[in-house]
Amino acid sequence: MIIDSHCHIDGDAFDEDRDAVVQRAKDAGVVAMLNVGTGDPHSDDFRKAVAVAEKYENVYASVGVHPHDAKLYNDVAENHLLELARSSQKVIAWGEIGLDFYYDHSPRDVQKEVFRRQIRKARELDLPIIVHSRDANDETVEILTAECSDDGFPGGIMHCFGGTAPMAEALMKIGFLISFAGNVTFKKADDLRDAARVVPLDRLLVETDCPFLTPVPFRGKRNEPAYVEHTARFLADFYGIEFETLAKRTTDNFMSFFRL
Ligand SMILES: [Zn+2]
Ligand SMILES: [Zn+2]
Repeated sequence: MIIDSHCHIDGDAFDEDRDAVVQRAKDAGVVAMLNVGTGDPHSDDFRKAVAVAEKYENVYASVGVHPHDAKLYNDVAENHLLELARSSQKVIAWGEIGLDFYYDHSPRDVQKEVFRRQIRKARELDLPIIVHSRDANDETVEILTAECSDDGFPGGIMHCFGGTAPMAEALMKIGFLISFAGNVTFKKADDLRDAARVVPLDRLLVETDCPFLTPVPFRGKRNEPAYVEHTARFLADFYGIEFETLAKRTTDNFMSFFRL
């Protein structure tokens, strides 16, 4: 039994064979997947993300505007996402939201403002947040510490962790879970593994972020939820524990975090 805490199986990459992908995940022991909606909040992208969760028993959804698309966020977008979040019991989080200063697809000041605004919206709905951060460690920690340090915060997941050990520690201090994706298995990812060293088992999650970031040994192919096992096996080896232990602990973390 294992969880894929972050995937994008609503995307076009899976239009041809989504049923088979979900079945292969099930066969591989994946008991739940969180399908994270992304795209243009003025299009039907998010409706599709929620529809996929509605269709499959073990698929959940989250809605929220990615930092790439922060420039598209406005009242109309927000109301659309609010309506979707309220429309289905399968929507269990708000995200992915955050900062991406690697691609800079939206201006940085807009990314920051929209990140804060969405954190507050998620809090109104009492939904945990899924956070994306790339090349913006300090700014991400600063905003999350300012917005999420109090007791009423419904919790968050730092997805596809790409920061440093001190960043992981700062986020865990304010209640975040840390999720690792396939890139932790890459040869050059020593920094990432240094960070993984400080994350205790009760704060750990694994994810595919598919169709991206395919773990070794499938690197170069389309990623899918069934492959989350390879990232989990890699981390279990790294921590020197049994795969089954890591799989069970990360599953328990996900289930209790979302009260499923
Ligand atoms: Zn992301
Ligand atoms: Zn993602």
